[in-house]
Amino acid sequence: MIEQKGILFILSGPSGVGKGTVRKALFEKNTTLQYSISMTTRSKRSGEQEGVDYFYRSKEEFEEMIKNNQLLEYAEYVNNYYGTPRQYVEETLDQGNDVFLEIEVQGALQVKENFPEGVFIFLSPPNLEELKNRIISRGTETEALVMNRLRAAKDEIELMDAYDYVVVNDYVDHAVEKVQAIVKSEHCKRERVASQYKKLLEVTQL
Ligand code: 5GP
Repeated sequence: MIEQKGILFILSGPSGVGKGTVRKALFEKNTTLQYSISMTTRSKRSGEQEGVDYFYRSKEEFEEMIKNNQLLEYAEYVNNYYGTPRQYVEETLDQGNDVFLEIEVQGALQVKENFPEGVFIFLSPPNLEELKNRIISRGTETEALVMNRLRAAKDEIELMDAYDYVVVNDYVDHAVEKVQAIVKSEHCKRERVASQYKKLLEVTQL
């Protein structure tokens, strides 16, 4: 049996783009990815469960985790901490299983620094496309409005630079299909497959 580490997939993107919705729809279908449950200091919303949606912790407990380097990444978002427990991610990858993170952009950039071999997927709002079409067709909008939208779009596009893939969240089902396709493609990458073959050749007496 050839040991192969799992792949770390990171789904991120601007606030309000629908990361949570895409992730939930993906996990209703996909069983091979392991979702890394985040830790947060925000209070539980109705219908949410400890250890399913998040691990809910106090600010003090969270800061203790930071101090002990027990988080792969963390960020402050709307006055609360959100972070990825390191141990679960490392152990699951070592067991050969893929891990999936759904996190905001600051956290994704930290993962990129500490874990560059991860696969970074940027979920993009469909209005970037719409915006492009509007600019191309030189519609009826005032110049100031177009400039504002362009600026916002530029900020979002710059965020994409650190990512390997961009998935437009036009329809949730389409976005999920694209993420699944990325997962499959990554498993077919020559670098990954070749290293497995090399290991095979090392253990085979020729
Ligand atoms: P919510 O409070 O709506 O569940 O999540 C708010 C934001 O925090 C979302 O953009 C979500 O992707 C992000 N988030 C959830 N877990 C983590 C995490 O572990 N780390 C970081 N950096 N962001 C997270």
